[in-house]
Amino acid sequence: MSNNTIMGVWSLFYEQDTISEVKILNDIVDVVASYVKLTPRSGSFFGLCPFHAEKSPSFSVNRDKQFYYCFGCGAGGNVISFIKKVENLDFPDALKLLADRVHFNLPEKGTGSEHFAAAREATAKINKEAARFYYNTLQETNPEANAARKYLENRGITPVLVRKFGLGFAPEAWDSLLKSLPDISPTSLETAGLVKQGKQGHYDRFRNRIIFPIIDQRQRVIGFGGRNLGKDDDGAKYINSPETALFKKSECLYGLNHAKKARSQEIIIVEGYMDVVAMHMHGFTNTVGVLGTALKNTHARLVKNTGANTAILLLDGDEAGIKATLRAIPVLIKEGLKVKILTLTQAKDPDEYLSRFGAAKFNSLLAEAKTHIAFQVDLFKEKHDISTIEGRVAFTQECARILAALTSTIEIDAYVSDIARATEISPSAINKEIEKLAEQGGISREFLLLPRTSVQKKAGEDIGLKNARKGLLNLLFSHKQAAKALQENALLTAEEIGGGVFGRLLEIAFTNIVNSPSDLFDMFETDEEQQAIAEILADSKEYSTKTALEKALCDMLKKIKLAWLTQRMELERDDLNTVKTLHSQRKSIIELNITLNDG
Ligand SMILES: [Zn+2]
Repeated sequence: MSNNTIMGVWSLFYEQDTISEVKILNDIVDVVASYVKLTPRSGSFFGLCPFHAEKSPSFSVNRDKQFYYCFGCGAGGNVISFIKKVENLDFPDALKLLADRVHFNLPEKGTGSEHFAAAREATAKINKEAARFYYNTLQETNPEANAARKYLENRGITPVLVRKFGLGFAPEAWDSLLKSLPDISPTSLETAGLVKQGKQGHYDRFRNRIIFPIIDQRQRVIGFGGRNLGKDDDGAKYINSPETALFKKSECLYGLNHAKKARSQEIIIVEGYMDVVAMHMHGFTNTVGVLGTALKNTHARLVKNTGANTAILLLDGDEAGIKATLRAIPVLIKEGLKVKILTLTQAKDPDEYLSRFGAAKFNSLLAEAKTHIAFQVDLFKEKHDISTIEGRVAFTQECARILAALTSTIEIDAYVSDIARATEISPSAINKEIEKLAEQGGISREFLLLPRTSVQKKAGEDIGLKNARKGLLNLLFSHKQAAKALQENALLTAEEIGGGVFGRLLEIAFTNIVNSPSDLFDMFETDEEQQAIAEILADSKEYSTKTALEKALCDMLKKIKLAWLTQRMELERDDLNTVKTLHSQRKSIIELNITLNDG
């Protein structure tokens, strides 16, 4: 395995020494303490989790191992991951913030960090020029932009609003932008995502489209959306900039720069560019748009960072929109936001609704937005025929599942009496069902909110096996002689331990390249991976004797290897010879014994 695959993408930009140095200078307890009030308890520090809403502290910070882990929501990572998450920054900016905090100079020349930062600033500059060109094109009495101006006029979009959002127009020609920015090389424009390379050279990406510049919180133009003005079969209705050094669809919200200024407790989330503009036009300036992607936790964090405590989802009312809404609910809750749902029945989107019925009617609609619970209960009601006994039972069980995730008993009670009334099932029976679900071990609150199919699949997983995998990896990272013994005797493979993060962690444990467990977090990219690592590190056990350690190692190893073997036997059951071989392997696993060297 090359060092790059191990270290992840950031090793292309930084020396691991630099990352280590910044981490050593920034003790995680000190850094976290400036965001969260921490109290020492049983060798760790505890506080209220900044990443989910809670009343008693389940957020732990470990000074010895320099990582944090929330027993409530599972968030975890090292000091860099913490800053990334809490400040909503990417890796380079988080590293920079921590370096600045301790007056450490990040190496200036020859490193990727500067290259990467420079690429982003260059893209921002080019985007600004392009935005100006599109804006001017729409403004001028250019006959080419007639249709665009007409379109906006018909939608009631005033020049003030055009200025506020910097709306523009990209002419139909293949090279309007290329010609208008002669000082910028086509390659640079391509890097910024504004032109494409074709057989006959470069050409404009956005043509005959209304342009919506996407502006981030630092007022940089990070990308563009374009609405087609041609015929419907003339390309997609909306297109976005491709992902660039500066633009990631899943990490921005359209209109956020304005919505933030509204300083509202509530943020309304809609789907399209035109919806955002229309909402702002009618005075709902606390509106943002997701750019044709599912709502991610990064989006939820951006909403949270505006200071709002409630997200109002106003997505399309069709089946896809309802699915997207159901998926978005747990994502928003996980970030500690209250969630309300607004459904439009008399129009297909907010833009249409507002132009037909106006702001006053929308306001009364807004006042009736449903809680996410009421929204889901209503969906269940449509799904099941509660005139039959089976329908009532299924309906009640589905409701119990989402109610089990609530913490407020008052809230639960209110819904329970509603459901009892609708189904004629006694409130105490419904409450029993809820308690049963809430008490099911190892099932977290977000988990209960997931759509049912994935719940069933996950519940089928063997918790004991998962614990053995986590426990073993924890042991291997804290007892190097154990990792050495497994590796030298080829006792375990990445596949046997379950592949994925577990497999990669096993390979890392075998290469013995990790100085501090907190380095592990720099080797993985996603939140899920960071959480998995924190969960593993948080589950540390002390072994009083060498024999106890050997026994624990052996037990976990056997459990993992036997599970793997059973799975293989199941798959190969028609091949008698293989089954025989596997049977004899099984015997030797059961008889396995491990003796560790001292040290
Ligand atoms: Zn948490």
